[in-house]
Amino acid sequence: MAYDFDLYVIGAGSGGVRAARFAAGFGAKVAVAESRYLGGTCVNVGCVPKKLLVYGAHFAEDFEQASGFGWTLDEAQFDWPTLIANKDREINRLNGIYRTLLVNSGVTLHEGHAKIVDPHTVEINGERHSAKNILIATGGWPQIPEIAGHEHAISSNQAFFLKALPKRVLVVGGGYIAVEFAGIFHGLGAETTLLYRGELFLRGFDAAVRKHLQEELTKRGMDLQFNSDIERIDKQADGSLKVTLKDGRQLEADCVFYATGRRPMLDNLGLENTGVKLDKKGFVEVDELYQTAEPSILALGDVIGRVQLTPVALAEGMAVARRLFKPEQYRAVDYKMIPTAVFSLPNIGTVGLTEEEAREAGHEVQIFESRFRPMKLTLTECQERTLMKLVVDAKTDKVLGCHMVGPDAGEIVQGLAIALKAGATKRDFDETIGVHPTAAEEFVTLRTPVAR
Ligand code: FAD
Ligand code: NDP
Repeated sequence: MAYDFDLYVIGAGSGGVRAARFAAGFGAKVAVAESRYLGGTCVNVGCVPKKLLVYGAHFAEDFEQASGFGWTLDEAQFDWPTLIANKDREINRLNGIYRTLLVNSGVTLHEGHAKIVDPHTVEINGERHSAKNILIATGGWPQIPEIAGHEHAISSNQAFFLKALPKRVLVVGGGYIAVEFAGIFHGLGAETTLLYRGELFLRGFDAAVRKHLQEELTKRGMDLQFNSDIERIDKQADGSLKVTLKDGRQLEADCVFYATGRRPMLDNLGLENTGVKLDKKGFVEVDELYQTAEPSILALGDVIGRVQLTPVALAEGMAVARRLFKPEQYRAVDYKMIPTAVFSLPNIGTVGLTEEEAREAGHEVQIFESRFRPMKLTLTECQERTLMKLVVDAKTDKVLGCHMVGPDAGEIVQGLAIALKAGATKRDFDETIGVHPTAAEEFVTLRTPVAR
């Protein structure tokens, strides 16, 4: 049977755009549907605007430290609407670039909400299009628990468009988004509390990293409240919010920001018209080839709930395009050794196993660790310390994990990720000449294990 398209992609985010462009490049007839914004979460309400706000927040410490280097500054003033307007302009520019990229690669763009009406047909803007394969790349959406008064809380989607910087912000959650946004609000001058239900935030990261960040954020004056959870939120006559915790304590804030994870975006997608199955957490279930239970439908990115990171969605998009239209170039995505950064202030950068994971996996581990005051701070009052940690297999000498908390940790760990992927040993690290004077050279000069 002749179809209108070889591939119909639903969602022009990180994974969808990558799959669509490469599939078209391989000669396939491709359409992509987008209901909100070209570039998806990452470009519009994720990685990109977030990083711009982190840069904005970082200036606070630069101004503070400048006097140690002889600079005199008038009192620094910050204007939130300027930052947001400039950010919006940049995002608009990127939306345009995404449009050009799609059009220039020969992809047909349909703007509107797409619904699957049968395993080979998508309906959008009242029109139906048939396709040999449909790719679900619809991403995720913030999930706020339905506590009393949850309608007074915001998520990351709204945080990027606030009209003014709130004076007092309560950030709820202990994952990437909570920690990053707490840093943004705090850096920009809001009184910031980070409220997390567990013992210590960033579950799944190396314990030393989590503890170190806790200490650094406390030093900076952020209010960290762990083992705490919200019972209800009430709006008061003056517009402020009264927050009642489960233990009975009450807090006041001008903004309550929930960052408690993301659900798959499947709203009105028409999955009931297909044999697509969901996993226990509600994400689209796929096999190792991104194939759903419906033979003509594939899915990738945040909607399959594996690793919710843009570079992973990009890799999956590439894999799907190759598998369908250039099978001789197909390579499976390797989910091991995925480097990642949390753009908290200071940053976290990490790749490979945590000490806890390595021990659990049965490795006999050697731990190398360094904590130091970065050189840049020696002329300043700032007491911030950097943490670097290597987890090494004592038997094979292989470096199993690298972890860092400190300036530019994400930048530094990207390079180390290549070494780990190539199977570097501790000896390879030791025999690598450092770049001096940098913080990164510490990773090649860690000589004495602190634990075995
Ligand atoms: P998305 O990028 O979400 O794209 C899905 C697209 O599908 C959307 O544009 C949506 O509008 C569209 N869509 C949905 N349903 C339909 C429909 N029925 N019809 C038509 N279109 C539809 N990752 C990193 O690697 N680094 C970071 O620093 C980082 N920071 C982040 C910060 C925040 C605040 C958030 C929320 C996420 C961040 N992420 C980061 C995660 C990253 O944004 C996601 O992993 C990535 O965007 C997933 O890509 P995707 O293609 O699966 O989905
Ligand atoms: P995460 O899954 O990272 O964290 C969710 C946090 O919310 C956890 O601390 C979790 O606690 C807590 N939580 C979950 N449910 C509740 C609840 N009902 N009540 C109270 N707390 C709750 O999600 P995020 O929203 O922070 O981010 C989503 C994903 O986006 C990330 O996992 C990441 O993959 C991606 N991302 C990546 C970034 C980067 O690369 N720099 C930046 C931002 C996002 P517990 O640990 O106890 O379960």
